[in-house]
Amino acid sequence: MATIELQNLRHSYVPEPKGPEDYALKHMNFTWKDGGAYALLGPSGCGKSTLLNIISSLVTPSEGKVLFDGRDVTPLTPDQRNIAQVFQFPVIYDTMTVYNNLAFPLKNRGFSRQRIEERVREIAGLLEIEPLLQQRAANLSPDNKQKISMGRGLVRDDVNVIMFDEPLTVIDPHLKWKLRSKLKELHQSVQTTMIYVTHDQTEALTFADEVVVMEEGQVVQIGTPVELFEKPAHTFVGHFIGSPGMNILPAEMNGEGPSFHGTAVPVANPPARLEGNERLEIGVRPEFVRFARKGESGLPVEVLKTTDTGRYRLVFARAGDTKLHAILPEDESEAPTGQAEVIFDPERTRLYADGWLLEN
Ligand code: ADP
Ligand code: MG
Repeated sequence: MATIELQNLRHSYVPEPKGPEDYALKHMNFTWKDGGAYALLGPSGCGKSTLLNIISSLVTPSEGKVLFDGRDVTPLTPDQRNIAQVFQFPVIYDTMTVYNNLAFPLKNRGFSRQRIEERVREIAGLLEIEPLLQQRAANLSPDNKQKISMGRGLVRDDVNVIMFDEPLTVIDPHLKWKLRSKLKELHQSVQTTMIYVTHDQTEALTFADEVVVMEEGQVVQIGTPVELFEKPAHTFVGHFIGSPGMNILPAEMNGEGPSFHGTAVPVANPPARLEGNERLEIGVRPEFVRFARKGESGLPVEVLKTTDTGRYRLVFARAGDTKLHAILPEDESEAPTGQAEVIFDPERTRLYADGWLLEN
Protein backbone atom coordinates (compact mmCIF):
# COMPACT_ATOMS: atom_id res chain seq x y z
CA MET A 1 0.00 0.00 0.00
CA ALA A 2 1.15 3.51 -0.62
CA THR A 3 0.36 7.17 -0.48
CA ILE A 4 0.01 8.38 -4.06
CA GLU A 5 0.95 11.94 -4.82
CA LEU A 6 0.36 13.83 -8.04
CA GLN A 7 2.73 16.76 -8.40
CA ASN A 8 2.10 19.57 -10.89
CA LEU A 9 0.48 17.13 -13.24
CA ARG A 10 -0.77 18.20 -16.66
CA HIS A 11 -1.62 16.16 -19.68
CA SER A 12 -2.39 16.90 -23.30
CA TYR A 13 -2.96 14.39 -26.08
CA VAL A 14 -2.04 17.15 -28.56
CA PRO A 15 1.67 17.28 -29.48
CA GLU A 16 1.92 21.06 -29.16
CA PRO A 17 -0.80 22.25 -26.80
CA LYS A 18 -1.62 25.96 -27.07
CA GLY A 19 -4.36 26.91 -24.62
CA PRO A 20 -5.96 25.24 -21.58
CA GLU A 21 -8.55 23.72 -23.92
CA ASP A 22 -5.83 21.46 -25.34
CA TYR A 23 -5.27 19.82 -21.95
CA ALA A 24 -7.26 16.71 -21.00
CA LEU A 25 -5.90 17.26 -17.49
CA LYS A 26 -5.26 20.79 -16.29
CA HIS A 27 -2.85 21.63 -13.49
CA MET A 28 -3.27 19.04 -10.75
CA ASN A 29 -1.75 18.56 -7.29
CA PHE A 30 -3.33 15.89 -5.16
CA THR A 31 -2.52 13.23 -2.58
CA TRP A 32 -4.45 9.97 -2.32
CA LYS A 33 -4.07 8.84 1.27
CA ASP A 34 -2.91 5.32 2.00
CA GLY A 35 -5.84 3.00 2.55
CA GLY A 36 -8.53 5.44 1.40
CA ALA A 37 -11.70 4.50 -0.47
CA TYR A 38 -11.98 7.14 -3.16
CA ALA A 39 -14.45 7.76 -5.94
CA LEU A 40 -13.45 9.83 -8.93
CA LEU A 41 -16.69 11.34 -10.17
CA GLY A 42 -17.39 13.48 -13.21
CA PRO A 43 -19.21 13.54 -16.55
CA SER A 44 -17.97 11.63 -19.56
CA GLY A 45 -14.89 13.22 -21.12
CA CYS A 46 -13.74 15.16 -18.02
CA GLY A 47 -10.45 13.26 -17.80
CA LYS A 48 -11.10 10.46 -15.29
CA SER A 49 -9.59 7.65 -17.36
CA THR A 50 -6.66 9.85 -18.32
CA LEU A 51 -5.92 10.40 -14.64
CA LEU A 52 -6.18 6.69 -13.77
CA ASN A 53 -3.99 5.75 -16.69
CA ILE A 54 -1.37 8.23 -15.53
CA ILE A 55 -1.40 6.67 -12.05
CA SER A 56 -1.04 3.19 -13.54
CA SER A 57 1.51 4.40 -16.16
CA LEU A 58 -0.51 3.44 -19.23
CA VAL A 59 -0.23 7.16 -20.05
CA THR A 60 2.92 9.24 -19.44
CA PRO A 61 1.95 12.74 -18.29
CA SER A 62 3.09 15.70 -20.43
CA GLU A 63 4.19 17.47 -17.24
CA GLY A 64 4.60 16.64 -13.57
CA LYS A 65 5.30 13.60 -11.46
CA VAL A 66 3.62 10.66 -9.81
CA LEU A 67 5.06 9.66 -6.42
CA PHE A 68 4.35 6.51 -4.41
CA ASP A 69 5.35 6.97 -0.77
CA GLY A 70 7.49 9.92 -1.77
CA ARG A 71 9.35 8.00 -4.47
CA ASP A 72 9.13 9.22 -8.09
CA VAL A 73 7.54 6.37 -10.08
CA THR A 74 6.83 8.38 -13.25
CA PRO A 75 9.31 6.34 -15.34
CA LEU A 76 8.13 2.94 -13.98
CA THR A 77 5.87 0.44 -15.77
CA PRO A 78 2.47 -0.67 -14.38
CA ASP A 79 4.06 -3.89 -13.19
CA GLN A 80 6.84 -2.07 -11.37
CA ARG A 81 4.30 0.24 -9.76
CA ASN A 82 2.56 -2.84 -8.39
CA ILE A 83 -1.03 -1.80 -8.98
CA ALA A 84 -4.21 -3.51 -10.11
CA GLN A 85 -6.56 -1.90 -12.62
CA VAL A 86 -10.03 -3.05 -13.62
CA PHE A 87 -11.39 -1.61 -16.86
CA GLN A 88 -14.87 -0.81 -18.13
CA PHE A 89 -14.95 -3.94 -20.29
CA PRO A 90 -13.73 -7.41 -19.26
CA VAL A 91 -10.03 -8.16 -19.72
CA ILE A 92 -9.72 -11.92 -19.31
CA TYR A 93 -8.14 -14.95 -20.97
CA ASP A 94 -10.96 -16.64 -22.87
CA THR A 95 -9.17 -19.96 -23.25
CA MET A 96 -8.39 -20.35 -19.55
CA THR A 97 -10.76 -21.57 -16.87
CA VAL A 98 -12.22 -19.04 -14.48
CA TYR A 99 -9.95 -20.49 -11.78
CA ASN A 100 -6.83 -19.92 -13.83
CA ASN A 101 -7.91 -16.43 -14.78
CA LEU A 102 -8.11 -15.53 -11.10
CA ALA A 103 -4.93 -17.42 -10.23
CA PHE A 104 -2.87 -15.81 -13.01
CA PRO A 105 -1.88 -12.54 -11.27
CA LEU A 106 -0.84 -14.58 -8.20
CA LYS A 107 1.17 -17.17 -10.18
CA ASN A 108 2.92 -14.32 -11.91
CA ARG A 109 4.05 -12.99 -8.56
CA GLY A 110 5.23 -16.39 -7.35
CA PHE A 111 2.59 -17.00 -4.66
CA SER A 112 2.51 -20.53 -3.18
CA ARG A 113 -0.03 -23.05 -4.48
CA GLN A 114 -1.83 -23.08 -1.20
CA ARG A 115 -2.02 -19.31 -0.97
CA ILE A 116 -3.31 -19.13 -4.56
CA GLU A 117 -6.03 -21.67 -3.81
CA GLU A 118 -7.09 -19.73 -0.70
CA ARG A 119 -7.25 -16.35 -2.41
CA VAL A 120 -9.04 -17.63 -5.53
CA ARG A 121 -11.70 -19.34 -3.39
CA GLU A 122 -12.11 -16.26 -1.24
CA ILE A 123 -12.53 -13.85 -4.14
CA ALA A 124 -14.75 -16.26 -6.08
CA GLY A 125 -16.93 -16.55 -2.99
CA LEU A 126 -17.15 -12.82 -2.64
CA LEU A 127 -18.16 -12.35 -6.28
CA GLU A 128 -20.43 -15.42 -6.21
CA ILE A 129 -18.72 -17.16 -9.10
CA GLU A 130 -17.55 -20.29 -7.24
CA PRO A 131 -19.74 -22.62 -9.34
CA LEU A 132 -18.01 -21.32 -12.48
CA LEU A 133 -14.40 -21.90 -11.38
CA GLN A 134 -13.78 -24.94 -13.57
CA GLN A 135 -15.54 -23.55 -16.66
CA ARG A 136 -13.73 -21.91 -19.51
CA ALA A 137 -14.19 -18.15 -19.53
CA ALA A 138 -15.02 -17.99 -23.25
CA ASN A 139 -18.72 -18.87 -23.07
CA LEU A 140 -19.72 -16.87 -20.03
CA SER A 141 -22.18 -13.96 -20.00
CA PRO A 142 -20.80 -10.40 -20.08
CA ASP A 143 -21.81 -10.03 -16.40
CA ASN A 144 -19.77 -13.02 -15.36
CA LYS A 145 -16.82 -12.04 -17.53
CA GLN A 146 -16.72 -8.67 -15.83
CA LYS A 147 -16.91 -10.30 -12.41
CA ILE A 148 -13.84 -12.34 -13.35
CA SER A 149 -12.13 -9.19 -14.51
CA MET A 150 -12.91 -7.58 -11.15
CA GLY A 151 -11.73 -10.71 -9.39
CA ARG A 152 -8.39 -10.48 -11.19
CA GLY A 153 -8.05 -6.95 -9.87
CA LEU A 154 -8.99 -7.91 -6.33
CA VAL A 155 -7.13 -11.19 -5.95
CA ARG A 156 -3.74 -9.80 -4.95
CA ASP A 157 -3.61 -8.29 -1.49
CA ASP A 158 -0.09 -6.87 -1.87
CA VAL A 159 -0.77 -4.09 -4.38
CA ASN A 160 -0.27 -0.37 -3.80
CA VAL A 161 -3.68 0.56 -5.14
CA ILE A 162 -6.66 -1.04 -6.89
CA MET A 163 -8.28 1.16 -9.51
CA PHE A 164 -11.68 0.54 -11.08
CA ASP A 165 -12.60 2.43 -14.24
CA GLU A 166 -16.41 2.37 -14.50
CA PRO A 167 -16.38 -1.38 -13.81
CA LEU A 168 -20.12 -1.87 -13.53
CA THR A 169 -21.05 -0.51 -16.97
CA VAL A 170 -21.79 -3.97 -18.39
CA ILE A 171 -23.28 -5.34 -15.17
CA ASP A 172 -27.02 -5.89 -14.82
CA PRO A 173 -28.70 -3.12 -12.74
CA HIS A 174 -29.91 -5.49 -10.00
CA LEU A 175 -26.38 -6.83 -9.58
CA LYS A 176 -24.82 -3.39 -9.52
CA TRP A 177 -25.77 -2.38 -6.01
CA LYS A 178 -24.77 -5.80 -4.73
CA LEU A 179 -21.28 -5.65 -6.23
CA ARG A 180 -20.87 -2.10 -5.09
CA SER A 181 -21.60 -2.93 -1.49
CA LYS A 182 -19.29 -5.95 -1.77
CA LEU A 183 -16.47 -3.69 -2.91
CA LYS A 184 -17.12 -1.44 0.04
CA GLU A 185 -17.08 -4.44 2.39
CA LEU A 186 -13.89 -5.65 0.83
CA HIS A 187 -12.24 -2.29 1.24
CA GLN A 188 -13.13 -2.32 4.90
CA SER A 189 -11.55 -5.74 5.38
CA VAL A 190 -8.33 -5.27 3.34
CA GLN A 191 -7.81 -1.48 3.67
CA THR A 192 -6.01 -1.26 0.34
CA THR A 193 -6.23 2.15 -1.33
CA MET A 194 -9.03 1.97 -3.89
CA ILE A 195 -9.95 4.48 -6.58
CA TYR A 196 -13.32 3.92 -8.14
CA VAL A 197 -14.12 5.90 -11.28
CA THR A 198 -17.70 6.58 -12.22
CA HIS A 199 -19.98 9.18 -13.80
CA ASP A 200 -22.81 7.97 -11.55
CA GLN A 201 -23.26 9.92 -8.31
CA THR A 202 -25.06 7.07 -6.53
CA GLU A 203 -22.15 4.73 -7.20
CA ALA A 204 -19.66 7.32 -6.03
CA LEU A 205 -21.52 8.32 -2.90
CA THR A 206 -22.23 4.76 -1.75
CA PHE A 207 -18.71 3.47 -2.34
CA ALA A 208 -16.43 6.25 -1.24
CA ASP A 209 -15.27 7.80 2.01
CA GLU A 210 -14.01 10.67 -0.10
CA VAL A 211 -15.25 11.77 -3.49
CA VAL A 212 -13.03 13.64 -5.94
CA VAL A 213 -15.26 15.58 -8.32
CA MET A 214 -13.80 16.48 -11.71
CA GLU A 215 -15.00 18.78 -14.45
CA GLU A 216 -13.20 19.59 -17.69
CA GLY A 217 -9.81 18.25 -16.66
CA GLN A 218 -9.71 19.71 -13.18
CA VAL A 219 -10.63 18.72 -9.65
CA VAL A 220 -13.41 21.01 -8.44
CA GLN A 221 -13.98 19.52 -4.99
CA ILE A 222 -12.76 16.74 -2.74
CA GLY A 223 -15.01 15.85 0.13
CA THR A 224 -17.14 13.35 1.95
CA PRO A 225 -20.58 12.71 0.46
CA VAL A 226 -22.04 14.89 3.23
CA GLU A 227 -19.68 17.79 2.47
CA LEU A 228 -20.53 17.64 -1.23
CA PHE A 229 -24.20 17.78 -0.38
CA GLU A 230 -24.04 20.41 2.34
CA LYS A 231 -21.41 22.76 1.00
CA PRO A 232 -20.69 22.47 -2.72
CA ALA A 233 -17.43 24.30 -3.46
CA HIS A 234 -18.54 24.98 -7.03
CA THR A 235 -21.93 25.37 -8.72
CA PHE A 236 -20.96 22.40 -10.91
CA VAL A 237 -20.78 20.15 -7.82
CA GLY A 238 -24.06 21.51 -6.53
CA HIS A 239 -25.78 20.85 -9.80
CA PHE A 240 -24.13 17.51 -10.64
CA ILE A 241 -24.74 15.98 -7.21
CA GLY A 242 -28.25 15.75 -5.86
CA SER A 243 -31.45 14.77 -7.50
CA PRO A 244 -32.51 17.20 -8.62
CA GLY A 245 -29.32 19.22 -8.14
CA MET A 246 -28.85 22.58 -6.45
CA ASN A 247 -30.90 25.52 -7.72
CA ILE A 248 -28.68 28.18 -9.23
CA LEU A 249 -30.02 31.74 -9.59
CA PRO A 250 -28.23 34.66 -11.19
CA ALA A 251 -27.60 37.30 -8.53
CA GLU A 252 -26.61 40.92 -8.15
CA MET A 253 -25.36 42.86 -5.15
CA ASN A 254 -27.28 45.78 -3.75
CA GLY A 255 -26.27 47.82 -0.69
CA GLU A 256 -27.58 45.22 1.75
CA GLY A 257 -26.38 42.01 0.12
CA PRO A 258 -27.22 39.62 -2.70
CA SER A 259 -30.54 39.80 -4.48
CA PHE A 260 -32.36 38.07 -7.30
CA HIS A 261 -34.72 40.04 -9.57
CA GLY A 262 -34.81 42.79 -6.96
CA THR A 263 -35.70 40.51 -4.02
CA ALA A 264 -33.05 40.35 -1.28
CA VAL A 265 -31.84 36.78 -0.66
CA PRO A 266 -29.95 36.27 2.62
CA VAL A 267 -26.98 33.92 2.29
CA ALA A 268 -24.70 32.10 4.74
CA ASN A 269 -21.57 33.62 3.19
CA PRO A 270 -22.11 37.34 2.59
CA PRO A 271 -18.91 38.46 0.88
CA ALA A 272 -16.53 40.77 2.69
CA ARG A 273 -15.16 42.13 -0.54
CA LEU A 274 -15.89 41.74 -4.24
CA GLU A 275 -14.01 42.95 -7.31
CA GLY A 276 -17.30 43.98 -8.84
CA ASN A 277 -16.91 42.19 -12.16
CA GLU A 278 -17.65 38.64 -10.96
CA ARG A 279 -20.53 36.58 -12.28
CA LEU A 280 -22.60 36.08 -9.12
CA GLU A 281 -24.98 33.23 -8.47
CA ILE A 282 -27.05 32.07 -5.52
CA GLY A 283 -27.09 28.34 -4.84
CA VAL A 284 -29.67 26.54 -2.73
CA ARG A 285 -30.61 22.87 -2.75
CA PRO A 286 -34.30 21.97 -3.32
CA GLU A 287 -34.29 20.39 0.16
CA PHE A 288 -33.83 23.87 1.67
CA VAL A 289 -36.57 25.68 -0.26
CA ARG A 290 -40.00 26.07 1.35
CA PHE A 291 -43.14 28.02 0.60
CA ALA A 292 -43.92 31.21 2.50
CA ARG A 293 -46.55 30.88 5.20
CA LYS A 294 -49.33 33.41 5.73
CA GLY A 295 -47.85 36.77 6.67
CA GLU A 296 -44.38 35.90 5.38
CA SER A 297 -43.01 37.32 2.19
CA GLY A 298 -40.55 35.57 -0.07
CA LEU A 299 -39.38 35.29 -3.62
CA PRO A 300 -42.30 35.28 -6.11
CA VAL A 301 -42.44 32.16 -8.30
CA GLU A 302 -44.89 30.44 -10.59
CA VAL A 303 -45.54 26.79 -9.68
CA LEU A 304 -45.60 24.66 -12.82
CA LYS A 305 -46.30 21.21 -11.37
CA THR A 306 -45.84 18.96 -8.37
CA THR A 307 -45.00 15.27 -8.42
CA ASP A 308 -45.38 12.97 -5.46
CA THR A 309 -42.67 10.33 -5.07
CA GLY A 310 -44.31 8.74 -2.04
CA ARG A 311 -41.42 9.87 0.17
CA TYR A 312 -41.48 13.56 -0.64
CA ARG A 313 -43.09 15.98 -3.08
CA LEU A 314 -41.07 17.61 -5.80
CA VAL A 315 -42.28 21.03 -6.93
CA PHE A 316 -41.25 22.48 -10.30
CA ALA A 317 -41.44 26.24 -10.38
CA ARG A 318 -39.90 29.19 -12.15
CA ALA A 319 -38.98 32.73 -11.32
CA GLY A 320 -38.85 34.60 -14.61
CA ASP A 321 -36.65 32.44 -16.86
CA THR A 322 -34.97 30.69 -13.94
CA LYS A 323 -36.12 27.17 -13.10
CA LEU A 324 -36.46 26.29 -9.47
CA HIS A 325 -37.06 22.99 -7.64
CA ALA A 326 -38.39 22.56 -4.13
CA ILE A 327 -38.58 19.33 -2.15
CA LEU A 328 -41.43 19.29 0.36
CA PRO A 329 -42.02 16.69 3.05
CA GLU A 330 -45.04 14.40 2.84
CA ASP A 331 -47.57 16.04 5.13
CA GLU A 332 -51.09 17.37 5.28
CA SER A 333 -50.35 20.77 3.78
CA GLU A 334 -51.61 21.65 0.33
CA ALA A 335 -48.96 21.84 -2.36
CA PRO A 336 -49.15 25.38 -3.73
CA THR A 337 -50.26 26.06 -7.28
CA GLY A 338 -49.99 29.10 -9.56
CA GLN A 339 -48.39 32.21 -8.09
CA ALA A 340 -46.59 31.60 -4.82
CA GLU A 341 -43.61 32.76 -2.78
CA VAL A 342 -40.62 30.73 -1.67
CA ILE A 343 -38.16 31.17 1.19
CA PHE A 344 -34.64 29.74 1.24
CA ASP A 345 -33.03 28.52 4.46
CA PRO A 346 -30.41 31.27 4.88
CA GLU A 347 -27.94 28.88 6.57
CA ARG A 348 -28.02 26.63 3.48
CA THR A 349 -28.05 29.32 0.81
CA ARG A 350 -24.71 30.43 -0.56
CA LEU A 351 -23.24 32.93 -2.96
CA TYR A 352 -20.93 31.84 -5.78
CA ALA A 353 -18.61 34.04 -7.84
CA ASP A 354 -17.60 32.79 -11.31
CA GLY A 355 -18.83 29.36 -10.23
CA TRP A 356 -16.78 29.12 -7.03
CA LEU A 357 -18.12 29.31 -3.48
CA LEU A 358 -17.16 32.62 -1.87
CA GLU A 359 -15.24 32.33 1.36
CA ASN A 360 -16.33 34.73 4.07
P1 ADP B 1 -13.42 10.25 -19.00
O1 ADP B 1 -12.76 8.98 -18.59
O2 ADP B 1 -13.74 11.16 -17.84
O3 ADP B 1 -14.63 10.04 -19.85
P2 ADP B 1 -11.07 10.67 -20.67
O4 ADP B 1 -9.90 10.74 -19.76
O5 ADP B 1 -11.29 9.39 -21.39
O6 ADP B 1 -12.39 11.11 -19.89
O7 ADP B 1 -10.95 11.82 -21.75
C1 ADP B 1 -10.60 13.17 -21.45
C2 ADP B 1 -10.41 13.93 -22.75
O8 ADP B 1 -9.26 13.45 -23.45
C3 ADP B 1 -11.56 13.80 -23.73
O9 ADP B 1 -11.71 15.03 -24.38
C4 ADP B 1 -11.09 12.72 -24.69
O10 ADP B 1 -11.65 12.90 -25.96
C5 ADP B 1 -9.59 12.96 -24.71
N1 ADP B 1 -8.84 11.69 -24.93
C6 ADP B 1 -8.89 10.59 -24.16
N2 ADP B 1 -8.06 9.63 -24.60
C7 ADP B 1 -7.46 10.14 -25.71
C8 ADP B 1 -6.47 9.66 -26.64
N3 ADP B 1 -5.93 8.45 -26.49
N4 ADP B 1 -6.10 10.49 -27.63
C9 ADP B 1 -6.61 11.73 -27.76
N5 ADP B 1 -7.53 12.25 -26.94
C10 ADP B 1 -7.96 11.47 -25.92
MG1 MG C 1 -13.34 6.97 -18.94
